[in-house]
Amino acid sequence: MARKDESCEEDGCLCASGDLLFLACAGGSNVGQISNQAAVELAKEGKGRLFCLAGIGAHIDSMILPAKERKLVAIDGCPVQCTKKILDHAGLPVALSVVITDLDIEKTPKLEVDAADCGRVVDKIKECLRA
Ligand code: SF4
Repeated sequence: MARKDESCEEDGCLCASGDLLFLACAGGSNVGQISNQAAVELAKEGKGRLFCLAGIGAHIDSMILPAKERKLVAIDGCPVQCTKKILDHAGLPVALSVVITDLDIEKTPKLEVDAADCGRVVDKIKECLRA
């Protein structure tokens, strides 16, 4: 998997796949909450579907099996990359991995989602999907 820049990692063009699942860490920090909100906004725009990372983490077969048939976009708040690690543990390859702090958005314990920061994450993911 080629690393495109510091904020996204992908394997080939995904823009036309129409087959994307967005999985967000939804962690207890601003960037964790931004990850979830960005995934929600991308799903609402029809770029793909929001998928339950918790179900993957719980090793629910009925959730892992369909995920194997789709292209997975991991959205992590910080370099700990909980989403990507959960997918790795489940044996699910990631088509695109985005780390929000790589976009120079500082991690804080505050849970408010800054709309401008979230917009930057959404735009970056769209840019990565088009590349
Ligand atoms: S990736 Fe970072 S922000 Fe997200 S759940 Fe893990 S530690 Fe929290």
